[in-house]
Amino acid sequence: MKVVRTIPEVRAHVGAARAAGRTTGLVPTMGAFHAGHQALMRAAGEACDEVVVSLFVNPTQFDESSDFAAYPRVEDDDAALAREAGAALLFAPAPGEMYPGGFATTVTVAGLGEVLEGAHRPGHFAGVCTVVAKLLSIVAPDVAFFGQKDAQQLLVIRRMVADLDLPVEVRGLPTVRDADGLALSSRNRRLSPVDRRLALALPAALSVAERAIRAGERDPETIRRLAIDVTRGRIELEYLVVVDPRDLTPVPEVTGEVLVAAAARVGDVRLIDNVLPTPSPRSPAPATSAPVQEVS
Ligand code: AMP
Repeated sequence: MKVVRTIPEVRAHVGAARAAGRTTGLVPTMGAFHAGHQALMRAAGEACDEVVVSLFVNPTQFDESSDFAAYPRVEDDDAALAREAGAALLFAPAPGEMYPGGFATTVTVAGLGEVLEGAHRPGHFAGVCTVVAKLLSIVAPDVAFFGQKDAQQLLVIRRMVADLDLPVEVRGLPTVRDADGLALSSRNRRLSPVDRRLALALPAALSVAERAIRAGERDPETIRRLAIDVTRGRIELEYLVVVDPRDLTPVPEVTGEVLVAAAARVGDVRLIDNVLPTPSPRSPAPATSAPVQEVS
């Protein structure tokens, strides 16, 4: 695996691959790799001949400078994990390579990019879309891989790629979790042991919502109340919503697949997670309460 820092080096690598008839898969990341990132890289390796991983802690998508400063940076470990997962090229540019003096263009996705994470983190998706548009232009991959863990990001990027007619296929992959249910996240390594336990309230709340929906509960407010109850006294929920997975609008009633998405602060670490439950076709009568998983 080669590590490169400049755009011409990336273009030379993927240009040579293309000339040899080889397809390219891109996995955009901010580093601090875990098994979720590696799952994306392995999927890229199964679908494409060449796997390019970008590693760039993109300053423009952070709404809090403290979060940007605290974001883990472990490039040597990342290079080893990317190599292990089959990457051919690791593109790790300096900020000046991506945003040279005079940089003045921003890509925004209206609507989808303005709710949930977009509302709680002003400017976040403009930063994400601009950097992903640049990476898609630099690498020109056949397929780009993203995690369902960032469900809204996946939707926003699909919208951007469709709207701008970008010649790339976007693939989403399921969330990889630790054995106890916590979704893997680069930010998890900033959790203290106590906060790591408290953080389990987030997947526990989502799994309560999921089970209520599978048991036949159709009222989003009841589902939210059951889930929110699980988090009390443990994590500081920013939002927990039951929305249409196609456009993120609140659903008046659960009649098909829904996205239950949540964001929470655990200490000074902000975590997001989601599930995509579908009510069973032969659901029993709506449940009045669902079993609540103990997370203490
Ligand atoms: P990040 O480095 O956090 O920007 O994430 C890079 C990519 O990995 C994004 O497409 C994320 O959605 C994806 N990702 C992050 N965490 C997970 C996870 N636990 N499971 C699967 N994909 C993930």
